[in-house]
Amino acid sequence: MRKITALLLALCVLCLCACTSSPAPKTLELFAMDTYMTLQVYGDEAVLSALSQKINVLDRLLSATNEAGQLYALNQTGRVSCDRELTALLTDSLALSARTDGALDVTVYPAVMLWGFPTDDYRVPTDAELSEALSHIGADHVQLSGDAVNLDQGTMLDFGAVAKGYAARACLELLEASDASAAILSLGGNIQTYGSKPGGDWLIGITDPTGETDYFATLSLSGTHAIVTSGSYQRYFEQDGKRYHHILVPKTGEPAETGLLSVTVVCDDALTADGLSTALFVMGLEKASDFYRDSDDFEAVFYSENGTVYVTEGLTNAYRGTDYEVIAR
Ligand code: AMP
Ligand code: MG
Repeated sequence: MRKITALLLALCVLCLCACTSSPAPKTLELFAMDTYMTLQVYGDEAVLSALSQKINVLDRLLSATNEAGQLYALNQTGRVSCDRELTALLTDSLALSARTDGALDVTVYPAVMLWGFPTDDYRVPTDAELSEALSHIGADHVQLSGDAVNLDQGTMLDFGAVAKGYAARACLELLEASDASAAILSLGGNIQTYGSKPGGDWLIGITDPTGETDYFATLSLSGTHAIVTSGSYQRYFEQDGKRYHHILVPKTGEPAETGLLSVTVVCDDALTADGLSTALFVMGLEKASDFYRDSDDFEAVFYSENGTVYVTEGLTNAYRGTDYEVIAR
């Protein structure tokens, strides 16, 4: 079910992107990082295979569930001499964790596992289980020195909130070193544009989190950007009539009920966009708006539970869709 939804999402994004293009891009589709991905490149077909190879390498390296991967080994043993890419992502993730006051926290995995999200084996944990898990969550349980990572007993990492952003960042580096003139990559809910699309702006649909329509809005953007959406609709289960979704508050280990259904972040850097979309969802509208006013590196669209859409000041020119309220800087 999750895979079908991801495929439809990827295809819909593809459609929006393809409608107005003049020369047709070369396209490659793949399944990686537990989602369908679509890579479209203008002007240098050869880079497509380099992009997919890079994504597959990172998938194996950064997956918490791939037994052949390095993150899996780190989570099992608590101590691994790590690949440069893994330590780079961990360093940036810890910095984002500090910046967001722990709203993003890659040590949240013990709680994520209790809810059954990695294995689709869903259940509501007991209070005792959650409090045991919480004793292993927090950046202070991670020691990083050079390429050596040490995790305290019981602490485990989950890059689910940032790995696709890191992959998009790595892909952008490959595109910049290639002869491609432009590209758009759809890595699940993460979109990366590169360069000027022939014949017009990039059109990025933002998924309607209620499911009543495909998209509630489109962003019309030119140039290179990362556009990332986090939403409670993307992964959830229901038990006794209540819905439990996959974005957790690291301080409680429970799904974030902050009045939002989705957050979309637009940023120059894909890893920052990915980390912040998760963190802003956890913060909720009020704290996220204050965080926006204190920052200068992103714009955002919020879809609240009561259907009101909020768009940050710097994105109103790009936004086409449902009525909205402006978040001024
Ligand atoms: P995203 O879809 O990018 O918002 O990331 C959500 C995924 O990241 C979840 O499926 C979990 O694997 C993990 N996760 C959930 N909550 C958090 C959090 N507060 N900080 C870091 N990772 C999280
Ligand atoms: Mg994220």
